[in-house]
Amino acid sequence: MKKLAILGSTGSIGTQALDVVRDQPDRFQVELLTCGNRVELLIQQALEFNPNAVVIGDPAKLELVKEALFPKGIKVYAGPEALEQAVTMEGIDLVLTALVGYAGLRPTLAAIEAGKTIALANKETLVVAGELVTAAARAKGVNIYPVDSEHSAIFQCLAGEWHNPIEKIVLTASGGPFRGRTREQLATVTKAQALKHPNWDMGAKITIDSASLMNKGLEAIEAKWLFDLKREQIEIIVHPQSIIHSIVQFRDGSMKAQMGLPDMKLPIQYAMAYPERLATTWPRFDFARYPALTFEPPDLDTFRNLALALEALDTGGNAPCVLNAANEVAVELFLQDRIGFLEMSDLVAHCLATVPHINAPTLPDLEASDAEARRLAREHTLSAWRS
Ligand code: NDP
Ligand code: MG
Repeated sequence: MKKLAILGSTGSIGTQALDVVRDQPDRFQVELLTCGNRVELLIQQALEFNPNAVVIGDPAKLELVKEALFPKGIKVYAGPEALEQAVTMEGIDLVLTALVGYAGLRPTLAAIEAGKTIALANKETLVVAGELVTAAARAKGVNIYPVDSEHSAIFQCLAGEWHNPIEKIVLTASGGPFRGRTREQLATVTKAQALKHPNWDMGAKITIDSASLMNKGLEAIEAKWLFDLKREQIEIIVHPQSIIHSIVQFRDGSMKAQMGLPDMKLPIQYAMAYPERLATTWPRFDFARYPALTFEPPDLDTFRNLALALEALDTGGNAPCVLNAANEVAVELFLQDRIGFLEMSDLVAHCLATVPHINAPTLPDLEASDAEARRLAREHTLSAWRS
């Protein structure tokens, strides 16, 4: 029986992780559930899974949640510091980090410090502070199991190959809803169009990142840290059917790929149950229904966000942190209809060019870079409106 903390249990990954728990009640027990502000759903989840504690992001809703859960003996806390403390609770074996964005960094570090195994969905944590996070995990002997489907694919291909050097990995990308479009066409795409992903049903932030291909850039940085790779060992290929989830090539030239229907429950369950594979009744892939699996190179001129992310990966230091912060603000402004699709890249490029470079940033350096990039991104948007 593994005892779980699910950070961001009300989100797309979080709710699917609870589907896995529901299917495998003898394997998993929920100890901690957390959300930002969708407390009604969190209360419902807590009443069903009976965790030891819950943490909500928004302190204004604390009394409401307490009223609902205290009679059941479930402890209720609020705010980011409470989240950092709760993940260290005795009795938690595995922490699934399924909250979105920079907010995942501190709780993930706290869980690692407390020696908890990590199932990592929150890729932004490794983008912002991959060096610090992986160093902390090494120092504590903590394993980080990837949940992101591409990284789970690579991890699955590496099983039994731990001592064989990787020549390169190939990250597959669906290409998103705007694959094949020109920059001119992208200038006028709407939020509703960007939120319609062809193959995956995900939270809003990652769906926009998938449409702009920023997601694949973030994943390249995530892969660098998870698998200790150099930039030239990471190739990206567009594969619109999303059946091959990624590929590893070894030094004898052999390539291993992991494939299956696009369903996040599989990589979530694999990370939760590792090293075991648990039986499922989910739909199986049928070759006859996919007569062609196709591949094409990504268009880095049109999808500038991917080029910018790869540039930040090359630059290293605080550049990926700046990229991430600017992108989080850009996605938020795009989702509020305050900037256009292409302006997201303008904001990211502006911040990357403006925030001073730090080669080997400490955690306080990264926090300062994050704050500075967010400030600059907002200021740049305001000055663009004024002119
Ligand atoms: P969602 O937006 O669906 O869910 C995010 C979760 O985090 C919600 O529970 C939300 O709470 C909570 N949350 C948001 N902000 C905060 C905060 N500041 N403090 C505490 N909790 C917060 O996101 P996804 O599930 O789509 O994605 C989660 C992570 O997994 C992301 O990093 C994403 O890149 C990664 N990922 C997701 C995939 C997917 O298929 N969805 C695939 C691969 C990776 P509330 O509901 O209350 O707002
Ligand atoms: Mg992915």
